[in-house]
Amino acid sequence: MASNRLDSAPSRSSDTPCIRGSSGSLASGTASEDLSPELLARYAGPCPRYTSYPTADRFTPLHADREARVANGSGKPWEALRDVSSLSLYVHIPFCRSLCYFCACNKVITQQYGLASSYLERVLAEAQWYRERVARVLVTQLHLGGGTPTYLNDGDLTRLVRGLGEVFDLRPGEDVEYSVEADPRVLELETLDTLQTLGFNRLSMGIQDFNPEVQRAINRICTPQQVRTLTDAARARGFGSISYDLIYGLPGQDVQSLERTIDKVIELAPDRIALYHYAHLPHRFKAQRLIDSDLIPSPQAKIDMQLAATQRLTNAGYRFLGMDHFSRPEDPLAAAADDGRLARNFQGYTLMPADALIGLGASAISYSRDGYWQNHHGQKEYATAIAERGEAICRGWSLDDDDRARQWLIMELMCHLRVEKRALELRTNTPFRQYFAADLARLRPLIADGLIRESAQDLVVTERGRWFLRNIAAAFDRHLHTGESAAQYSRVL
Ligand code: SF4
Repeated sequence: MASNRLDSAPSRSSDTPCIRGSSGSLASGTASEDLSPELLARYAGPCPRYTSYPTADRFTPLHADREARVANGSGKPWEALRDVSSLSLYVHIPFCRSLCYFCACNKVITQQYGLASSYLERVLAEAQWYRERVARVLVTQLHLGGGTPTYLNDGDLTRLVRGLGEVFDLRPGEDVEYSVEADPRVLELETLDTLQTLGFNRLSMGIQDFNPEVQRAINRICTPQQVRTLTDAARARGFGSISYDLIYGLPGQDVQSLERTIDKVIELAPDRIALYHYAHLPHRFKAQRLIDSDLIPSPQAKIDMQLAATQRLTNAGYRFLGMDHFSRPEDPLAAAADDGRLARNFQGYTLMPADALIGLGASAISYSRDGYWQNHHGQKEYATAIAERGEAICRGWSLDDDDRARQWLIMELMCHLRVEKRALELRTNTPFRQYFAADLARLRPLIADGLIRESAQDLVVTERGRWFLRNIAAAFDRHLHTGESAAQYSRVL
């Protein structure tokens, strides 16, 4: 993967945020002094990222070949795949040629291409397992993530997409999104040709930072010229959307160096930008032990970087979306934000949420209206499970009505920065203040700190609160406040 996205154990008017119709005014309205050291100290600690609800660390053992038993009931959430009318596919390709020290992804660093070839066979075998279990409906999103998906050679990339096409209804075109995460250090122009032929129309490149010193500290050297060449080549081949991943909080970064990176990025003019926070968890991720912890910026320095980067991007005309995404105003993602259609999934913000997602490959997570299921993380366990059973599901979660209501609420907060109480009352058949009494009690200090406002009709995240969306969402996470936490979440800052 191009960044170090991490969710959990297994991925906003003076005071009124307005993602709909706003054009950067939100970011420009927050000053560093609005975010005092005391405020940062209260909210900068570990917290889930809420790419799903419940978060993946809550998943419990789940086996497709026996009666499914999960902590909150029983069920096989993949059975709902028979009823879907649209589908997303995610394929995890974990292989990389070299190690980036900040990485928290499920990856395998190897020069032995044979490992990738045999892994591909397993992914295609896993796809076959779904043949009898999923309605033959249009795949509206296909996403190759990793690792480095383009570690696969062009022949194997073609074999992968053709193999998927034997099981799923793949029809490339303007109305569907075929996206691939690319490492600009190693992506060849011929591979872009192959991807274009296969129908890919979105390219996401991991940039992180252009500062050579920061790049050395994270062992990921990549020049702006490499990125420019690929960006131009992708555009010439008709890729309609080019996205860059950037990270702040990396070793050796400061506001000035990050601003220089942002200026180069603005010159290159990608359609979308994701600006992630670096989660330094060396006790959990071995690669991060290669980073000098003394070089990690302080929480105050990180918020200064985030503010400065956001200011520069919005001044350049980018729209600030959700928690950490930016898009050019003419990008469909901006229109989706205006219309209230912005959604969030494991890959970040999207405008095309399908009824279900099938994740293929080691550690991949799938979901349907009934819940989540996840594959074995390790290569060995994944390979054994596919050989023995044809699938590799090891854990998951069946959603109950309470989970569904909270899932909707948290996604509304993350995408639209507002929650309409009446909409929740219709979901819970209970007055809002009654149903969420414990949650509102947890929210009181955040209201007092000016992070969120409550009116008779709604809850609205303030501009200051936008920087602490994860904390606001956490107030409504029932599982976080009941039961044991097995997770070591990344820090908000
Ligand atoms: S290229 Fe590989 S090692 Fe580097 S960040 Fe992406 S997944 Fe991690």
